[in-house]
Amino acid sequence: MKTELKIKTAEYLSSGVEEKQFPKPELPEYCVIGRSNVGKSSLINMLTNNSKLAKVSKTPGKTITINHFIMDQTWYLADLPGYGYAKRSQTTREQWEKMTEKYFTTRPNLLCVWQLIDSRIPPQKLDIAFSNKLGEFGVPFILVLTKCDKQSTLQATRAAEAYHKEMKKTWEEVPIYILTSAVEKVGKSELLNWVQLTNKVFDGSQIILP
Ligand code: GDP
Repeated sequence: MKTELKIKTAEYLSSGVEEKQFPKPELPEYCVIGRSNVGKSSLINMLTNNSKLAKVSKTPGKTITINHFIMDQTWYLADLPGYGYAKRSQTTREQWEKMTEKYFTTRPNLLCVWQLIDSRIPPQKLDIAFSNKLGEFGVPFILVLTKCDKQSTLQATRAAEAYHKEMKKTWEEVPIYILTSAVEKVGKSELLNWVQLTNKVFDGSQIILP
C-alpha cells in the first residue's frame, strides 16, 4: 500500500528581509513564489494541514518580507512575497526586486524554488519573465501548477505543457512540473516525495537530482 507522505510538524520561524534575519542556513531550504492570488497560502496550508500557518504571511502586496517555516525540524520553507501586485508602489517594487535578487543569489542553503503557476490560464508574460530571471540567477526551480481541480487532469497537463512550450523558445531544458490542487489535496505526496529526495542532495548522502 502506498503510504501518504505527511509533514508532522510545521512551525513559523521568522519574517525578515536579509540574511542576518533569516534562520541559520544549516538545513535545506525551498521557497515558494508566484503571482498574487496564484494559491500560495493555500498550497502551504495543504502541505502542512494547517489552515492558519500561511496567514502569518498574508500581507497582500504591502509589507514585503521573507517568511520562514521549519518542517519536521529538517527543512525550511521560505514564503516569498509574490509578484504582479498592481497596487504596489514603485518604492515597494524596488524593495522587492532588491530583496529577492539578494535572496536568490546569496542564500547558501536554497536548494530549489517552487514557482507557482495558475493552471487555468495560458502562459503569462510575467511568469515567463520570472522564470527567465531565475535562469539568469542560476537558481534551480520547479513549476508547481495550482488549482488543477478547476479542470481535468488532461487540461491541467496541457497548461503545463503550454508553459514548457513557451519556455522552450529560449531554454534548452525545462524544469519539471507538479500538478496540485489545494481543494482536492492533489500533488501533496509528489511534492513531499520530491523534497525528501532533494534533501538528500543537501546532506551529501546521495547526488541524484530528481
Ligand atoms: P495567494 O495570494 O497566492 O496566497 O493565494 P491564496 O492561497 O490566498 O488563494 C487565492 C484564491 O484562490 C482563493 O480564493 C483560494 O480559495 C483560491 N484557491 C487557492 N488554491 C486553490 C485550489 O487548489 N483550487 C481552487 N479551486 N481554488 C484555489
